[in-house]
Amino acid sequence: MKILVVNAGSSSMKYQLIDMETETVIAKGLCERIGISGNISHKTADGRALSYDTPFPDHAAAFREMIKVLTEGEGKVINSMDEIAAVGHRGVHGGEKFASSLLITDEILDTVDELSSLAPLHNPPGLVAMKASQQVFGKDKPMVAVFDTAFHQTMPEKAYIYPIPYEYYEEYRFRRYGFHGTSHRFVSARLAEIKGRNDLKIVTCHLGNGSSIAAVDAGRSVDTSMGLTPLEGIIMGTRSGTIDPSLLRAMAQQKELSLDEVTTVLNKQSGLLGVSGVSNDQRDLHAAAAGGNKRAELAIDIQCYQIKKYIGSYAAAMGGLDAVIFTGGIGENDEVVRRKVCEDMQFFGIDFDAAKNDAGSRKESRITADGSRVEVWVIPTNEELLIARDTRDIVSKLK
Ligand code: ADP
Repeated sequence: MKILVVNAGSSSMKYQLIDMETETVIAKGLCERIGISGNISHKTADGRALSYDTPFPDHAAAFREMIKVLTEGEGKVINSMDEIAAVGHRGVHGGEKFASSLLITDEILDTVDELSSLAPLHNPPGLVAMKASQQVFGKDKPMVAVFDTAFHQTMPEKAYIYPIPYEYYEEYRFRRYGFHGTSHRFVSARLAEIKGRNDLKIVTCHLGNGSSIAAVDAGRSVDTSMGLTPLEGIIMGTRSGTIDPSLLRAMAQQKELSLDEVTTVLNKQSGLLGVSGVSNDQRDLHAAAAGGNKRAELAIDIQCYQIKKYIGSYAAAMGGLDAVIFTGGIGENDEVVRRKVCEDMQFFGIDFDAAKNDAGSRKESRITADGSRVEVWVIPTNEELLIARDTRDIVSKLK
């Protein structure tokens, strides 16, 4: 069975065609500048790569080109779109409605639309892509939505209710939802598989441009750092993470900004970029810090300090800790961050192994010494594969 996995943004769409027999990627690519101009880049597993401009007035046009490049010419990997058994879509905000992945129906699309009030930046492009793929593939092609929030629906009330008047929750569903659920689920399930245990207490650290940390107890998310939106939690590339809410008013007053403008500052000009004044890219920060830039060093220090605090608090919340997992662009690649978070944690049961850590990037590896009470792992995430697996499981039940 071959499954097409789609991750849509407002002007871009990433795709992967996955062979579920071998769980390998047959081809993948990116449609960019949708609604602006249009470019597609496409790579096949056997090493063919092409990139060209072509007009993308909308997401449907991008889907048509995607099918064309998969079925014809230099990038061809399948004979026709009939070979694609189903399409798996990454959905961002499933609210309280979607606690697991599900088959897309018109009713589901209406609900995703309703949830746009909670995720105005993220849900509309996902919805547009889901509708466009129905238009291009036809309604008979099964489509599945896998939501970033779904994995965290197991959190207890005490973890997700904000201490504001309860009516806001009742009326507007303002609460913690959490994101990156597909990634937290993938890496925690993978460690359970490696260890052959379903009872592990794990803190999963997904560190990328957006970063979030989750407490996963026996395969269930019991707490996570992101909240109603992906702005809450630890410092990120351009997002502040958690701050004193009174700062919003103070910033608005001092800088004569509207609430929308302050929110934009917190989302786009804060975090690692805001503190360092250098970049939101972790590699640039390391280069600047190595060159003596104190604020770049400070930004990394804040990041590591906050990650460490979450690990401590989530261990307390779960009443124990078996493992910490690092994943995402930073978690998988950045030896320095992992070292700064873990090296002085012997008191906590983490017997960090610097040599294993230095050799442990970009692959599945344990970076603690043999016998460490708490193990620390690098586990590369694979959200697309999990979306494809969920899609396969749901589609298989249809037959
Ligand atoms: P996104 O959240 O957009 O999916 P990624 O998970 O790809 O992002 O993570 C992007 C981040 O990973 C960037 O800050 C980038 O600098 C960082 N990164 C990638 N490679 C390395 C590396 N070798 N060392 C440190 N950071 C890295």
